[in-house]
Parts: sequence; structure tokens; C-alpha cells
Amino acid sequence: MAGCYALIVAAGRGQRFGGEMPKQYAPLGDSTILGKCISTFIAHPDIGGVRCVINKDDVNLYDATVKSFSEPKLLPPVFGGETRQQSVLGGLESISSLSPDTVLIHDGARPFVSDELISDVISALENASGAIPGLAVVDTLKECFDDTIKKTVSRNNLFRAQTPQGFHFNEITKAHRNFINNNETDDASLFEELGIKVSVVNGSEENFKITTQDDYIRAQNKFAGNDVRGETRTGFGFDVHRFGAGSALRLCGIDVPFNKAAIGHSDADVGLHALTDALLGAIGEGDIGTHFPPSDQRWKGSNSEVFVLRALELITEKNAKITNIDITLVCEAPKIGPYRDQMRARVASILGIDVSRVSIKATTTEGLGATGRGEGIAAQAVVCLFMA
Ligand code: MG
Repeated sequence: MAGCYALIVAAGRGQRFGGEMPKQYAPLGDSTILGKCISTFIAHPDIGGVRCVINKDDVNLYDATVKSFSEPKLLPPVFGGETRQQSVLGGLESISSLSPDTVLIHDGARPFVSDELISDVISALENASGAIPGLAVVDTLKECFDDTIKKTVSRNNLFRAQTPQGFHFNEITKAHRNFINNNETDDASLFEELGIKVSVVNGSEENFKITTQDDYIRAQNKFAGNDVRGETRTGFGFDVHRFGAGSALRLCGIDVPFNKAAIGHSDADVGLHALTDALLGAIGEGDIGTHFPPSDQRWKGSNSEVFVLRALELITEKNAKITNIDITLVCEAPKIGPYRDQMRARVASILGIDVSRVSIKATTTEGLGATGRGEGIAAQAVVCLFMA
């Protein structure tokens, strides 16, 4: 048993990419697009060897790409032919003396192939002569002529084919020899012609093919860890309420027995007010006064949860999600500690997030200032959001 070999096809010229340099040699991090493909395959424990098929004009570029690889699993490259199919067949013939059981044929312009995907394709070859990664089609498909729609094509049962495409070695080599003059765009097509079973495993959107400059920018961003599909937002809120006569304080949605009450237009929940401002701040939607003016009698005596829920609604409309919140209550009394868990649970419940994402802390000001003199209570809140 000689196991599984990988054949990385990188002989193409990539007309749609433009520029002087073939796209597979464009830089990606400290390597190149092709270099990323090679390193993933050689690191995979089930891959016995890796052979690249390159263009004979690219020897210097290839050498520069692999100069840091000392792994003996990387075999010397072979040169491709006039067509993709000739290149693949040349690559297959070049490893036939190693008698592989199976071969994975990968496109050198898909640098984000994962270990998991490689494993999935190899596993699927236990029950089929061929296996490829496929992605369901989610967009509605239109068949058009001269920029005019002729009809809508059903997307049921349609998949987008990716690589690596895996095959039983002898069968795919034979198919390539027999169909050398076909002009297929992938290798599974040959098995389809012969009626040989090819399984489809779950592909990955991450495993995209770099074809255009836009794809390359996406790849560079992804490699740099800049997830272009979203961003992190932070918001800050601060609030103060004066104490007056009363027997309880509403704090972070909980009634805390006390010998005073906080004075305010609503229920004067200083914690939820700071939180509301932080939530609105993170999405640039003004502050609590913008949305709930004290001049509006509707909010008189209002439960401050209403304000938080409105801010949450605006966040949800913007496709943002709360990562975590952190509230600090500032007062000499009452003691917050005994109520902290209840407050965290209440706030987590209002926001519909796990309690582990909610922090509530308390501090005094060492007797200094208005809160130190017990004239009122203050709160600060910080919110972190992920906006898709
Ligand atoms: Mg307030």
C-alpha cells in the first residue's frame, strides 16, 4: 500500500488574473498562493508525497516558492502540457512508479484547502472510486441569451465543484489516457463519462479559487486575519442619578433594598441607562435621550428594560451581535456583591445572551465626590459588538 499522493496542478497562465506573474506565484503572507497549497498537503499525515505540475517557464518562480521546504514528501516538479488535461496526465504518469492507491488532484490556485477537507475526500474514497468537494448553489440560476433571461434553471441537485478531487489512482490514470483529447475543466468529468461513481463531500466557501484580482485581495485579507465579512465595534456609556427619598434602588433590572431611591424620569436604573448608551454608541445611533426624551410623558416611570430592548432591536437591524458587556456601578452604598449574580442573569436575559458574556462590577470612590458623599449613584458600561 503506497497510500495517497497529491498532484497540484499549477501550470496555467491565468488570463483573468492579469499582470506579469502567474497568479499561483503571487505572494500570500510569507509564501505564495502555490506555496500555501503545498505546505498544507505536505503537512497532512495521510499524504505520502506531493508533486506539482508547473509551466516550464516558471522554474525560477517555483524554486523561490519551495526553497524553504525541506520536507522530503515534496517531489521535484514536472512540466505541464498544452492543456490542463495533458498537464494532469503528465503528473499522474510521473508518480505511477510510486504505485499510489489514490491521488488527490488539486488546483494550485486554491490556497485555503484545509486538513479537514483533505481528510474528508480521502475518507470518501473508501466507498467510491472518486470523491470531490461540492457546495450547494444558493443563488437563483438564470439561463440568458444576449443579456436577456430565457428561463430560470432549477438549482435542486446542483453543486459547485471544488478541488482536491480524489480518485483511485489506476482508474483515473486510465481515464486520462483514454480521454486525453477531451477538454474537461475538472477530473471528475472523466469518471462521469465512464459511469464510474464519484461521491460529493461538503466543500468549503473558504476553499475558494483565486481567479481575479478581487479574489486575490480577498485571499490577502483572509490571510492577514482581516475578516472582511465583519468588524468589531465598541460602545461606551455613562450615567448618574441623584438619590432621594425611598426604600429601594432599581439597578440592572433588580430591586435592591436601600434607605433611598434614585430619582429620575423613568425607573432611574443607572446600570441599564449606561448600558443603553453603550449599545447605541457602538452602532452610532445617538444616545438614550435621542430615542427616549425625558420631555416625553410616555417614558415617565418606565421600566428601563424598554430602552435596552430598543437599542438591541437597532443592533439586530444592523446585523450586529453582542460579544460581551461590562458594567461598573459606582457608589458607597448599597453593597452590590449580594445582588451581582441576579443582576448578571437579568441583564443576560434581557439581551438574550449567555451570562458569561455579562460582567457587572462595583466600586466606591473612597468617599470622594458626589458618589462618595452618598448623594447619588453612577454607572459606566462598555459593549463589544461584532457587526457582520
Ligand atoms: Mg439615566
